[in-house]
Amino acid sequence: MTSEERAAALEAIASEVRACTGCRLAEGRTNAVPGEGSPDTEVVFVGEGPGQNEDRQGRPFVGAAGTLLEELLGTIGWARDDVFITNVVKCRPPNNRDPEPDEIAACRPFLERQLQVLDPALLVTLGRFSLQTFMPGDRISRVHGTERPIDPSTGARAATGYALYHPAAALRQGSLKETMQRDMAAVPEVLIRARAARSAAESAVAEAPTTSPAPTEAPPTDQIDPAASPATDQPEDPPMTPSDDQYGLF
Ligand code: URA
Repeated sequence: MTSEERAAALEAIASEVRACTGCRLAEGRTNAVPGEGSPDTEVVFVGEGPGQNEDRQGRPFVGAAGTLLEELLGTIGWARDDVFITNVVKCRPPNNRDPEPDEIAACRPFLERQLQVLDPALLVTLGRFSLQTFMPGDRISRVHGTERPIDPSTGARAATGYALYHPAAALRQGSLKETMQRDMAAVPEVLIRARAARSAAESAVAEAPTTSPAPTEAPPTDQIDPAASPATDQPEDPPMTPSDDQYGLF
């Protein structure tokens, strides 16, 4: 997909989110909050759900938690436009209550499709509801600051997941801010490992032997399907792209 195609696909999903009446959260919303950011990014941040400010503006993380998230991104030299930011549920739960399992399930296809389009190398979870979506069974207090592969059924085809506390938790409990700063400081290194894991997985697929028996007689050249031939040499290193240096890592 080209950058323009990705942007158009994300906007098509956003339009569906804005018109969605798939669960009770639609009744109380002012604006749905589909998510926003670079269509070309390698990194997606997934929070819990919109709060009051987000509901008013239709944009994710624009209140106090968003200010802290931007501050934390700034400590590693990133801006919010460098990444894509979205939530597990796209409409504000009343009085900022926790999202219910059926509301998370109703919204899941939107998140899945966003991830299919973005195909991130790194997916950063913010808080326990996002953690449960991508790394079920783990406790945020145990796994914050750690990474693991993401199940492709989430829509993220070949991504590493990295768990952070929710910025709102650090606003409530000041001591968590330092923990979040430490965890955020590791994100650029995690991205480098995530890229390597992705390339290794892709090379392994490209080099896997085919199971079809070798033909006894070579077919006429106009009948050879190049896609069915096993690769005979190492794939070349991919060319450097602008995203390779997007974060000033090299
Ligand atoms: N908290 C979230 O989880 N998401 C937002 O967009 C804002 C606050």
